[in-house]
Amino acid sequence: MTSVSPTEPITVRVDLGARSYDILIGRGLLASAGERIAALMPGGRLAIITDATVARLHLPTLTASLDAAGVGSTVMTVPAGEQSKCFAEYQRLCDEVLAARLERGDAVLAFGGGVVGDLAGFVAASVRRGMSFIQIPTTLLSQVDSSVGGKTGINSRHGKNLIGAFHQPDLVLADTALLDTLSEREFRAGYAEVAKYGLLGDAAFFDWLEQNWQDIFAGGPAREEAVARSCAAKAATVSADERESGQRALLNLGHTFGHALESAVDYANERLVHGEGVAIGMALAHEFSARLGLVDDAVVARVVAHLQEVGLPVRIGQIPGQMPPAGTLLDIIAQDKKVSRGALTFILTRGIGQAFVEKGVDPAAVRDFLEEKLR
Ligand code: NAD
Ligand code: MG
Repeated sequence: MTSVSPTEPITVRVDLGARSYDILIGRGLLASAGERIAALMPGGRLAIITDATVARLHLPTLTASLDAAGVGSTVMTVPAGEQSKCFAEYQRLCDEVLAARLERGDAVLAFGGGVVGDLAGFVAASVRRGMSFIQIPTTLLSQVDSSVGGKTGINSRHGKNLIGAFHQPDLVLADTALLDTLSEREFRAGYAEVAKYGLLGDAAFFDWLEQNWQDIFAGGPAREEAVARSCAAKAATVSADERESGQRALLNLGHTFGHALESAVDYANERLVHGEGVAIGMALAHEFSARLGLVDDAVVARVVAHLQEVGLPVRIGQIPGQMPPAGTLLDIIAQDKKVSRGALTFILTRGIGQAFVEKGVDPAAVRDFLEEKLR
């Protein structure tokens, strides 16, 4: 049989004992999805869950590949956007998977960004108490972050991602060519998470990103390498700490400040996308670490310069519109799960690649810092 994939993909193994699986990364990989899935689950059928935008741009390539390999599939489409991570869509999809008479050995295939991945993953975790699950992530964020680690779920009116399950996929296919159709803004937002892996634990990767980011954005070979190194970094963290009891918290670098900014401006509007909040949050985490005497100003300047050079925001003042006062942001941070006995937990750093979990951060110091940053 001839391989329809132009080059051999890079494989990243996620080691989770009996739940281990491979992430394959390559440009043009989508065309070989059919033969790879047929080999993984001979005779199995698929419920493809996708969003309207991804369906319009890329579904014909996927279904042609599946048809050629004789893999039967039913397509279920949700509207593009965060609003689809809701009970109503979840319920409809669970019923549709059952109506399509898919059985336990068949699979749910998520074909889209993090929204589709989280929603479809939760459907896969629930129907018949757990079906096989395959991810074909189509945004940079989903290729480097949400498709690795097994967190699935939907939003509640009480907050984001509050209802869900851990459910690991059986296979992830990350085709970096799919990212060519992503908007600049969405691509950059995903890149914030890529930079995060360098900043939290791998100085050599951050050096390499400073040298290679243009090729990553342009879709050259560095893009596949960046996705692979990011997946490997997250996979290593997740293998060490699947259910988030310790080390996995490092992945929240930039996210404590970032989430507070995101919720302050309301998730539903366009003022701030997640990766932009993370970029500002990472800049703030470095500045705050410098304030505490943990890291040199020169390191902070280098981090900020790189985020800025790729076009990411680094200051609260770059968010359009009004921001609430420091006290309100602090309240949001304190309501976040990372608070115990009056002390806050933050991911701080001693240098590039040297992030650590600090559980004893004084809320007053955070408030003073934010007050200054809001000026
Ligand atoms: P998304 O899925 O909403 O995708 C962003 C936009 O890009 C959508 O409009 C989508 O239709 C469009 N799109 C997707 N692929 C495209 C392509 N190839 N070309 C053109 N347009 C395309 O958002 P996202 O940023 O991928 O994911 C965000 C979600 O991921 C959030 O709900 C977040 O909670 C979740 N998340 C989950 C985890 C996890 O561990 N499970 C981690 C991080 C984020
Ligand atoms: Mg994130």
